[in-house]
Amino acid sequence: MSDTPLPGTPPSGKPLANRIAVVTGASRGIGRAASLALAEAGAHVIAVARTQGALEELDDAVRNAGGSATLVPLDLCDYDAIDRLGAAIHERWGRLDALVGNAGVLGKLMPLGHIDPKVWSNVMDVNVTANWRLIRSLDPLLRRSDAGRAVFVTSGAASSCRAYWGPYAVSKAALEALVRTYAAETATTPVRAMLLNPGPLRTAMRKAAMPGEDPDTLRTPEDLAPHIVRLASPDWTESGAIYDFPTDRVLTPQKPA
Ligand code: NAP
Repeated sequence: MSDTPLPGTPPSGKPLANRIAVVTGASRGIGRAASLALAEAGAHVIAVARTQGALEELDDAVRNAGGSATLVPLDLCDYDAIDRLGAAIHERWGRLDALVGNAGVLGKLMPLGHIDPKVWSNVMDVNVTANWRLIRSLDPLLRRSDAGRAVFVTSGAASSCRAYWGPYAVSKAALEALVRTYAAETATTPVRAMLLNPGPLRTAMRKAAMPGEDPDTLRTPEDLAPHIVRLASPDWTESGAIYDFPTDRVLTPQKPA
């Protein structure tokens, strides 16, 4: 036995000790479980969502687990607020080690011709434009980390193109193009940008999409959370690919010749 930490192991022994992570959609579902798991792994979590009460409950859970968080009640459609978040992180920490772009909305499941333009716009605003604005605002801070990690939550809907899932499917396909482009632009830096397909998980969004389904048949956000910690860790080296939780495989999209 030795009291000396192993080389590369942070003094606390926690794999993400002293690392700073932003998680969007931290108030419930996948984002909440990811926030808690990142905090348990030692990261200081900057938890973003609109619902202040739920963020405060997350903060209690993080503290009880011996972790720390900064709560940021924010509507991701307020793009100036995203820029202010970037400025505040720069001022306080000067860098960002991980960004988990998880917040998302389903919109309405209906034929393309019936969709209210306001619903279409909101799905694009939250699922696509807000993630671009996060990259725009936080990329300089990720580049200042020794191992900046960006993880964005996509869906099998991006490629299945099922009837009635139009806005959501289009938004996730756009998100995948966005993140793969970001991965290409950061290929020669320490930053790594990944997509994550969680598959069907027991959350409010899944319940809204599949009201007749028995939630007990689904895996939970807590099952997924350790994989998000892995993707957010300096040890993760892949970029521009999709980590597919249902199959535990890294899917590298084909590039045209
Ligand atoms: P959820 O339980 O509905 O949670 C969505 C989160 O996004 C909430 O924390 C919500 O917080 C936040 N959010 C939504 N609009 C926002 C806005 N305008 N500003 C700030 N935050 C906002 O959904 P989930 O199932 O955990 O989904 C998380 C991600 O996984 C999404 O990107 C979803 O598309 C993806 N996904 C989920 C499944 C699944 O089976 N669950 C499958 C594939 C992909 P507030 O309401 O407090 O703002």
